[in-house]
Amino acid sequence: MDLLDILLNDCVNPSMSFKTNNLKKLGNQVNVPINTDEDGYFGRECPVEGCLGYFKVTPGTGITEPAPCHCPYCGHTGDNNTFWTQEQLDYAHSFVLRQVTDALHKDMKSMEFEHKPRGMLGIGISLKVTQSTPHPIEYYREKELETHVVCESCTLRYAIYGVFGWCPDCGIHNSVQILAKNFELARKELILAEAVERDLADHLIGDALENIVSAFDGFGREISSRKGTEIRFQNLPGARCNVQDKFGFDFADALTADQWQYVCRVFQKRHLLAHKMGVIDDDYVLKASDFGAVAGRKVQVSAEEVNSSIEIIELLGRTLFAGILPLAL
Ligand SMILES: [Zn+2]
Ligand SMILES: [Zn+2]
Repeated sequence: MDLLDILLNDCVNPSMSFKTNNLKKLGNQVNVPINTDEDGYFGRECPVEGCLGYFKVTPGTGITEPAPCHCPYCGHTGDNNTFWTQEQLDYAHSFVLRQVTDALHKDMKSMEFEHKPRGMLGIGISLKVTQSTPHPIEYYREKELETHVVCESCTLRYAIYGVFGWCPDCGIHNSVQILAKNFELARKELILAEAVERDLADHLIGDALENIVSAFDGFGREISSRKGTEIRFQNLPGARCNVQDKFGFDFADALTADQWQYVCRVFQKRHLLAHKMGVIDDDYVLKASDFGAVAGRKVQVSAEEVNSSIEIIELLGRTLFAGILPLAL
């Protein structure tokens, strides 16, 4: 009697059974490898509906013990497992399905049999398991981002769109660090200026001045906007009043009166460079306390002046930061 006879005649409830060894081997969970990109980052996505901000972090840097994740853009704090990107989730879903369907196929393959026909009128029976196209895995590529940061506080390497953001590991805002980086670039321009002819040196010094003022303005706007306020920082006396008004502290507190006057003058020189082709106007003569300045003449800016201003602006920046965003998330 062959298998067909058994199935058709002998069993009240004919059934077939097969071993599920391969399925069992998967256990009750499947680990999905999430690989880093060529620079060592893997993507993260803020789960907040109105944000969904994409950023990347480098595993093995930053805080080593389990810690929540912070969105660099909106500041949302949550469990790390809630920050998977949609692409990673689609990939994980397809990866698990593939593991399960492959295991199922292997188990079913073990059921294969073949009974050759016997005798003159014998009936042969066989079971052959063939697999259609394996379930496709949805691979993905991490995106290119604009700013790469090594957190000064926890050493996490992370990448974001734009420039400013909270550190995903320790929650420190990177604005002071970005400001310092811009000042470093300006200092390099000043060093370059020492080695070139006068015209180019003047241009580099002016450019360095414009860059530090823009960096401070961007920095100040960023941290005040984090508290829902828009303040411009290219006009220092105006910004000082606005900060006092909105936040109740004086960001020039740490400066002497001379330092304040000095840095205000340098900011006014920047205004002339940016908007008046560097030519002194009446407003400058009136407000800049620059004795000897004559309207219609070109304003003079020295590398030493810009260097000294950087130190003062750095101090202003740190006071501003401590007053507006004093705590990590
Ligand atoms: Zn967010
Ligand atoms: Zn950090």
